Amino acid sequence: MGGKTTLKMKSFLDEILTEFHRKEWLHTDPLGLVVEWATPEDQEVVAILSAVLAYGNVKQIRKSIQGVLNVIGRLDETPASIIRKLGNLTNDAPHSQSLVPERLEVGLKEYKHRFNRGVDVFLLLTLIGKSTREYGSVGAHFLSPHLGNASLPLERRWNLFIQEWKKGVKELPQDQRTFGYFLTAPEDGSSCKRWCMLLRWMIRKDQVDLGLWRKESGLLAQNSIEVRESELFMPLDTHTGRISQYLGITTKKSLNWRTTLEVTEFFRSVDPDDPVKYDFALSRLGILDLCQKRFKTEICGECKLLSVCHFAAGELKKEERKRRTRALPKKP
Ligand code: SF4
Repeated sequence: MGGKTTLKMKSFLDEILTEFHRKEWLHTDPLGLVVEWATPEDQEVVAILSAVLAYGNVKQIRKSIQGVLNVIGRLDETPASIIRKLGNLTNDAPHSQSLVPERLEVGLKEYKHRFNRGVDVFLLLTLIGKSTREYGSVGAHFLSPHLGNASLPLERRWNLFIQEWKKGVKELPQDQRTFGYFLTAPEDGSSCKRWCMLLRWMIRKDQVDLGLWRKESGLLAQNSIEVRESELFMPLDTHTGRISQYLGITTKKSLNWRTTLEVTEFFRSVDPDDPVKYDFALSRLGILDLCQKRFKTEICGECKLLSVCHFAAGELKKEERKRRTRALPKKP
């Protein structure tokens, strides 16, 4: 896209941003369940859990996240307290503490979220616990200098972190058949929407995003590496992927890592310092059914993106052609 087009697009995207990038819309997103927790420690655990479960319908996602939180609550634990009791059973652990993993496994036995099962959630919480014990938090692990210094690109840091978690989970005794669906990294080639989104929540900070993996949150270590907003990747899901196609940002039909890079590159040309700031707002168009999979005059006519929407322009042309054909005099 040329500079002029990008500039034109920016002004329309900024309108969407003003309307939808607001905390008032958090109740329509998994992130809304994260901000209900007061401490950064609890928020970090709930954010990771919410992000990895964020596939499928948003109502079901929120229900599934709440389902795990209910199980934790019934054990009189908080997300931050329970992860510290997993995978660290020493002989001198208090008896009541040593029962927690067993009771959690039982509590999650019947749990299911589409492709994932309760045992996957148990493994995830165990890995979060392991990182927290070893580094102080998952953020401190992800941003640890042992993975690479500040010049290591985010993409490679992320690959290395997921490799370490994959290695860590192999050391655990539970059945791991479906767990892998939780851990995605660029080297797998998928669009990695859920982890792109988690990184957005953790690195950006404003009325929507948490900024938990920033120095001021108190979760990181003295020597944690800093990741800037400019390094983030656009989370591409069914909504943002489709809207990116409608706006002509990508012509790719399949959502994979290459599409993520292409779409991120476009948003970098719109705002080099903060390319993913439009994600939450654009997702609202899909989640709130404000952009459907077809051209609807009553909806598209009101849409702030209408004049830059290639899909709508194509549909309007088709309508116009049909109207002209109908207006032609019938052959005798
Ligand atoms: S004009 Fe219609 S199809 Fe295009 S982005 Fe807006 S609502 Fe979606």
